[in-house]
Amino acid sequence: MTDYEMICHESKKLSSEEQARVLEYIQRIQNEKGGGKTESEKPEHCPRCGGSSVIRFGHKRGKQRFCCKDCGGVFMASSGTIMENSHYDEKVWSEAVADTLDGFVSIDKTAERLGVSHDAVFHMRHKILMFMEERGKAFPVCLKGISELDETYVLESLKGRKFTENASRNPRKHGEKASQRGISNEQVCIMTGVERNGGCAYAVTLNRARPSVEEIKAAFQGHMTTGCVAFTDGLKGYGHLEEVVDCVIESVDKQEQKNAGTANLNNVNNFHSYIHERYSHYRGVATRYINRYNTLFSTVYRAKESLTNIADAILHNVSAHVFSCWDVRHTALVTI
Ligand SMILES: [Zn+2]
Repeated sequence: MTDYEMICHESKKLSSEEQARVLEYIQRIQNEKGGGKTESEKPEHCPRCGGSSVIRFGHKRGKQRFCCKDCGGVFMASSGTIMENSHYDEKVWSEAVADTLDGFVSIDKTAERLGVSHDAVFHMRHKILMFMEERGKAFPVCLKGISELDETYVLESLKGRKFTENASRNPRKHGEKASQRGISNEQVCIMTGVERNGGCAYAVTLNRARPSVEEIKAAFQGHMTTGCVAFTDGLKGYGHLEEVVDCVIESVDKQEQKNAGTANLNNVNNFHSYIHERYSHYRGVATRYINRYNTLFSTVYRAKESLTNIADAILHNVSAHVFSCWDVRHTALVTI
C-alpha cells in the first residue's frame, strides 16, 4: 500500500470533524507552499488552475505580478486570498485579524492603533468576519454529548445608519435602555448552544423577541448530533427539537438550577456573559451584521484549534469567492 492509499484508508476511521481538520491542515501546508507569504516571493502554484509554471510578470501598483504559463492567468501573491485588491499589506491585515479574534478591540481602536482610517478597518474587519461565516457554513458546529441550549437578547442596533423621520422609534444613546420592559420586538434574540466539558459553542440570530417553535428548529437542526442530550430553560419550543433531531431535551426549572446539580445551564450562561462583555466593548453591533459576530464568538469561545491557525487560514486560504467592499455592506445581512 502506498502512503497515499494508506492515508485515504486511515482517514475513513476519523470523525467528520477530524476529517475537516485534516483538510484544513492540508490546505494550510499547500498555502504555505503556494500562496506566497510575501509579495516578492514567487508562488509555486497558480491560484486559478494549480499549474506550477509560474513566472514573474512585472509590477502593478508597486506589487510583484505573476503569470501562469499553463492558463495565461495574471495574478498577485494575494490573489484569491482575503487580501486581494487591498491597499494594505499583510502586516496590517494580520494586525486586523488579531484584533478581530481578540474580541475586545473595537474598529475605532484598531484604526487608531494602526493609523488607518475607520472605513478601511471596517472593511477589513467585515471581510474577516464574512470569511469566518463562510468557513462556519462549510464546517458547521455540531453539538454532541451533553449540551445546554438557551437564548439571550441584545437591543436592536441601527449603528452606522441615519435615522429617517418615519423610523419606527427614536434613536437611542449609548447605554440607553429599551423603551418597553421585558422581551419585546426591540430585543434581538441570539439562540445559543454549548457543549458541556469544554466542547464547542454555537450562536445564531433568526428572530426578534422570543423564538417560535419553527425558529428554534431552524436554529438547531443540523447543529446537534444524533443521541445528544440537551438541557434547556422552560421555554416550550425546545421540546419540539425532538421531532427533528434524534435527541433528548431536558427542561431545567429555576429551583433545580439553583441547586446546581447536573441539570443546570451554567455553561450556556457563561457563554452569554462572554457575548455581552464583548458587546459592551464594541458599544453594540449593528443588527444587520449580528450573525457575522455570532460566528466570531462561536469560533473563538473555546476554540478547538489555536487562534494562530485560525488567523493563518483567514490570511492565506485561497477562497472560491473573495468578498468585496460592496459585498460587506450588501450581502449576507440579517433582516429581521
Ligand atoms: Zn494557471
